[in-house]
Amino acid sequence: MRLSKSIIGDKEKGIVQDVLKEEYLGMGHYVQKFENNLSLYLNNKVSVVNSGTAALHLALLAMGIGKGDEVLVPSLTYVASYQAISATGATPVSCEAILESGHIDLDDAKRKVGPNTKALMPVHYAGNPVDFESVQNFSNQHNVRIIEDAAHAFGSLHRNGKKVGEVGDVICFSFDGIKNITSGEGGAVVTSDKAIIQFVNDARLLGVHKDSDARYSGNRSWEFDVQDQGFRYHMSNIFAGIGLAQLERFELEFKSARQTLARQYFELLNATPNIECFAMDFDQVVPHIFPIKVLKNRDQLRVQLIEQGIEAGIHYFPNHRLSFYKKPNDVLPNTDALYDQLLTLPLHPEVTREDQLKIVEIINEFSRSFKLE
Ligand SMILES: *Cc1c(COP(=O)(O)O)cnc(C)c1O
Repeated sequence: MRLSKSIIGDKEKGIVQDVLKEEYLGMGHYVQKFENNLSLYLNNKVSVVNSGTAALHLALLAMGIGKGDEVLVPSLTYVASYQAISATGATPVSCEAILESGHIDLDDAKRKVGPNTKALMPVHYAGNPVDFESVQNFSNQHNVRIIEDAAHAFGSLHRNGKKVGEVGDVICFSFDGIKNITSGEGGAVVTSDKAIIQFVNDARLLGVHKDSDARYSGNRSWEFDVQDQGFRYHMSNIFAGIGLAQLERFELEFKSARQTLARQYFELLNATPNIECFAMDFDQVVPHIFPIKVLKNRDQLRVQLIEQGIEAGIHYFPNHRLSFYKKPNDVLPNTDALYDQLLTLPLHPEVTREDQLKIVEIINEFSRSFKLE
């Protein structure tokens, strides 16, 4: 049983075939349509790129962040968040995790604000959005920009009922193969800030000024200007085709499937000894992963699951312990403690109720034998 997977059906295959038939594989009107449909769904401005990491990288550059600057980020995240920060020349400053949610600990972040702090990058861990108001207050109090790593949280709602991506400073999504929707590979920068969108639109096409508009209207100019360092980060029509199909299926299929599975896991496991679940509102959150905390002997349970054909993951190895990012002063005991307990169970729309019951039985049996020891 796979931990996570892409769900691809006739709709995706149909659109990709249309793209192939047109023999225009680059960035054209499928990308424009994907961008427009995302924009309608999120009720905000959108620029799509070829990965979530590229989205974070360009969003940071668009904010003017670079060498000498610091960005506050939770150590408990995918290394992509860190790589995007260091790619700009800025330094990621590792912050503690809250044990109950896996979110960035804003009190710890507050202690780490310094004269070079330019931004805070909260990660909506597992799909559960970091409290919007607290992040807004943090931004106002410390005069820093907010770049949300919303790679896990496509479709989730804030507590105020607004979609993740609908409100806030700059929000970045990933559409890689296993995220809540996929475009094969892909990502998006979402914001109401026109200057950011303009910067990203140019920077994704090697910095060629207004090339996005020219490609969408089929009038690429052979004479152009470049005003900034650019990157080859644009999306192809093939990927956008997959993304369009996934976005159409999201509300009715993927969203409810993920919510139902996560709700059931929670109900089945929350009373189990030695196991703790992360509490969240499964009517509002569209969970990307289902991590649990195994209070003791996590690795033993993981081996037992794998032996019975069930993939189990660990999200994530703390970034402050990676050779490239570790700093002598980093002491993050909560993140380290959480890391020792985390175990991610299979969660994707094709996990069945039977699959879940099997997983839960293995976990229950493990807890029972463990209690007898
Ligand atoms: C997937 C992911 C990313 C990066 O997205 P890619 O599309 O894989 O580049 C960034 N942050 C987090 C937390 C992720 O899970």
